[in-house]
Amino acid sequence: LGECPSGSSVCVVALLCDTEKQIESSQLSGLPEYVKIVEVGPRDGLQNEKVIVPTDIKIEFINRLSQTGLSVIEVTSFVSSKWVPQMADHTEVMKGINQYPGVRYPVLTPNLQGFHRAVAAGATEISVFGAASESFSKKNINCSIEESMGKFEEVVKSARHMNIPIRGLFISIVLLALGLSQQVSKRLYGMGCYEVSLGDTIGVGTPGSMKRMLESVMKEIPPGALAVHCHDTYGQALANILTALQMGINVVDSAVSGLGGCPYAKGASGNVATEDLIYMLNGLGLNTGVDLYKVMEAGDFICKAVHKNTNSKVAQASFSA
Ligand SMILES: [Zn+2]
Repeated sequence: LGECPSGSSVCVVALLCDTEKQIESSQLSGLPEYVKIVEVGPRDGLQNEKVIVPTDIKIEFINRLSQTGLSVIEVTSFVSSKWVPQMADHTEVMKGINQYPGVRYPVLTPNLQGFHRAVAAGATEISVFGAASESFSKKNINCSIEESMGKFEEVVKSARHMNIPIRGLFISIVLLALGLSQQVSKRLYGMGCYEVSLGDTIGVGTPGSMKRMLESVMKEIPPGALAVHCHDTYGQALANILTALQMGINVVDSAVSGLGGCPYAKGASGNVATEDLIYMLNGLGLNTGVDLYKVMEAGDFICKAVHKNTNSKVAQASFSA
């Protein structure tokens, strides 16, 4: 038995004290003290909503998010409007937002043309995305994995030349294709991405498959350069994130209100909700620097704009209370 602070020699009390200590230490074991949340609502979220959100609403949404304590907000995607009409106003959005000090605003740039447009619009950080499935890559970015890697290499080379940090996003079924996940993420990291975000964008993973996938990828990439990106299709997102945190990951992607989905993976629901993630992290005593209430307000704002109910359980419970 551990030492009981009350000094009681009664066994039952000593046991209780010990149990409390165990609970306290098990809550903190293996978990990072600080978790960086990458808010992907304005891009990943809105890109996959049916409604096309007016530019001024997007700008207001991003400005509100900037005042919540979030340190990274994925703003938009410099893709062709032919492929992604929801992001056609990328230049206006990038130019229109207030860039708050201490907040980073990465934008997606699938090719060199998009990269140059992004830089011209004021982007100072970019993301490139790879896929671990040929058919997914074809449908999503209209080229094979090999072709897409060639394009990213061009983008990454130019970005590094201009000292622009690059994040590698890995939209795929990573929890299923272990070998391919390891290969593609290694390649993105090797190209010079400072962080590779591993995405289970159809949300089929479980803590078991998350653990196996991370064990495989961590043979090639240090945990400090990895992030996880979980969708909640099968209700496993928070459990998967907790598993990743216990394995040394401390960067997590999420979207306010659980915005989004994946138009190329039928039935896939949205990203894990930022509100729910913060609620869990707060409960674990982990620091995020983000104000949950302000995030809920930003979520309420955008849900009204896209005429949908929030997917965040925390927001549902709080607003109905
Ligand atoms: Zn996503």
